[in-house]
Amino acid sequence: MTEILKGISGSMFAGKTETLIREANRAEIAGKNVLVFKPSTDDRWGIKDKIKSHSGAEHDAFVIKNATDVADFLSSDTDIVAFDEIQFFGPEIVNVVQALLEADIRVIFAGLSLDFKGEPFGSMPELLALCDEIDKPTAICTEIINGEICGANATKTQRIVNGQPANYHDPLILIGAEQDYQARCPKHHIVPDKPSTGIKL
Ligand SMILES: [Zn+2]
Repeated sequence: MTEILKGISGSMFAGKTETLIREANRAEIAGKNVLVFKPSTDDRWGIKDKIKSHSGAEHDAFVIKNATDVADFLSSDTDIVAFDEIQFFGPEIVNVVQALLEADIRVIFAGLSLDFKGEPFGSMPELLALCDEIDKPTAICTEIINGEICGANATKTQRIVNGQPANYHDPLILIGAEQDYQARCPKHHIVPDKPSTGIKL
C-alpha cells in the first residue's frame, strides 16, 4: 500500500461532511479525479446524488448499497475515493478500503465515531486504526443549563425521544415518536439504563 488513508470522525453536527467536501474540492482543484460515495439508506442505489453539509456545501456522490459496489465506478483515472457516513456500511468496508489503497487510490472518509449510546459505531474502530491521518472535529454542546447554552466541545450525539434522553434499550426506529439528535459534551451526554462497565476502581 502506498496511498494514504484519512479519516474524519466525530459526533453529529461536528462538520464532518463539510470537511470531506472541502477535501474533495481541494483535490479536484489540484487536478485529481475524485469519486464520492454514500451508503443507501433506502432502496435506491447506483444513482447520482449529492452529499450536503449542515452549512449548505454540496458535492456529487454516488449512492451504493454495499461497499464492494465501488468497483462498478472505478476507472484507471480514479485518484481518490471518498466515503460519507461510512459507519453505515457493513463490515466488508474494511477490506474494500484496504483494496483501494493497494490499488494506489487515496481514501478519505467521514463517519460517526459513536452511536447515540456512546458506543463505537460499526467498523469505525477498525477503520480509524488503519488511518494515516485523523481529523476529529467537534460540535458545540447545546444542552441548556440554568437558561444558558453549555458551549463546551461536543464529542457525543444525544438522542432525544419525545423531549427526553433516549433510553439505552430504545429501538432505532420508534413509530409515532418525535425524535431529535443534539451534540453534547461528555458531561451532558445522558443514556438512561446504559449498563455499567462493572469494573470497580
Ligand atoms: Zn455540555
